[in-house]
Amino acid sequence: MPEQDCFAYQRGRCKALTVEKCRGSGCGFFKTAARLAGERQKVFQYIQSLDERKRRHIIDVYYGGNIKLLNGEEGCL
Ligand code: SF4
Repeated sequence: MPEQDCFAYQRGRCKALTVEKCRGSGCGFFKTAARLAGERQKVFQYIQSLDERKRRHIIDVYYGGNIKLLNGEEGCL
């Protein structure tokens, strides 16, 4: 797949990695937007399945207390 299909590709640059230029089709971090959305959904469902204490801890530590970031509602990558 061409690198332009990567979720992080933006005008020849990568908005996910700290690289000067997109690494192209051989990049190990290549991921389509659809795949990213699917993976986020799985993580979201897993976190939602945890008990309240664990869920709150993960949301606080990894999402700054904002579950909307995980759910893709707040414009993160
Ligand atoms: S460097 Fe990798 S992750 Fe970044 S836009 Fe290119 S293919 Fe995607």
